[in-house]
Amino acid sequence: MNLSFYPLDLKLKHTFQIARETRDVQNNVVVQIKDRDGIVGYGESAPSRFFGEDVTSVTKTLVQSRDLLKNTDPFQIEDITLHLKNKFPKDAAARAAIDIALHDMIGKKLKIPLYKFLGLNRHERKTTSFTIGIDTVEKMCKKVEEARDFPVLKIKVGMKGDTEILKELRKTTKAVFRVDANTGWTRDEARQKLNLMEELGVELVEQPFPVGSIESLKAVRRHSKIPIFADEDIKDSKDIPAFSDVVDGINIKLMKCGGIREALRMIYTARAHGLKIMVGCNIESSLSITAAAHLMSLVDYVDLDGNLLVTNDPYIGATVDQGRLTLPEGNGLGVEARRTMPLSSLQGGADKDRTSVSACHL
Ligand SMILES: [Mg+2]
Repeated sequence: MNLSFYPLDLKLKHTFQIARETRDVQNNVVVQIKDRDGIVGYGESAPSRFFGEDVTSVTKTLVQSRDLLKNTDPFQIEDITLHLKNKFPKDAAARAAIDIALHDMIGKKLKIPLYKFLGLNRHERKTTSFTIGIDTVEKMCKKVEEARDFPVLKIKVGMKGDTEILKELRKTTKAVFRVDANTGWTRDEARQKLNLMEELGVELVEQPFPVGSIESLKAVRRHSKIPIFADEDIKDSKDIPAFSDVVDGINIKLMKCGGIREALRMIYTARAHGLKIMVGCNIESSLSITAAAHLMSLVDYVDLDGNLLVTNDPYIGATVDQGRLTLPEGNGLGVEARRTMPLSSLQGGADKDRTSVSACHL
């Protein structure tokens, strides 16, 4: 198999701010893997600096993976992905692109959609939450207004005055609120804030504390009725047992864990520990968002809106109506190029010619 790749710079509709960072462009990488029969599988890497990855590290890992893929059979996906995990343990987002591309290729070779290959049900549609990033209270209220079609909102918090903002947002919408502190709270803050969250009808709180704060999680969970989910704490299945008694659920992301194979292991591990499951995402195009959406029938909560936060998504895959996700019917991922998009709108900050390839390659 032959692996090639190119950058994809996704432009954000609104400056994206969470508790620890701000940005306007998300720099991703699209991977294509071609087999001897000329069938091409596509994948995407959306690296996160929080986990030590960026386009440079992804590119390096992809170059080094080329030789490993050369004489392999795509159906041996378990062997291939485990081998890559051993060789590049810290490069989950790079490995995710290869894993997704191999699943796309297998589906195309078998002429079946990915969900069918995985033995899953296309008709079990779920509602995705829509993310409201940190901003001024006025702008956050405006974003909530813009998101009126979404019955579930994920509100980013973890900044000064976040509870006051939540109170204001509650006045403007009846949508279900999920709250994500992205490691931004202290234990004392969480105690006070969780009480208010309860009053405001918040459905769950994600990652209140810095990574590894098991004692703080234990302490606040005794006093809070709101389910607490771990995100940054749980990269892959090996991280789950240590948190199984201190959180109610986990957020699984293909980019954190290395792809669909590991996401399945996480789902089974989490279920064995009695945990609820959310499938989430980074800022991604419809390419890798659709890959994650193929798993939605296995999870309790869906947070797959990364593609909805950008202005130049070059792909069409899973679609959203009033927050409800529908999987495409095509083989593999079922993702197609958005051919009507002018090439000029695909450029973020990077090289014009390289980026524009993504508009016409599918
Ligand atoms: Mg999160």
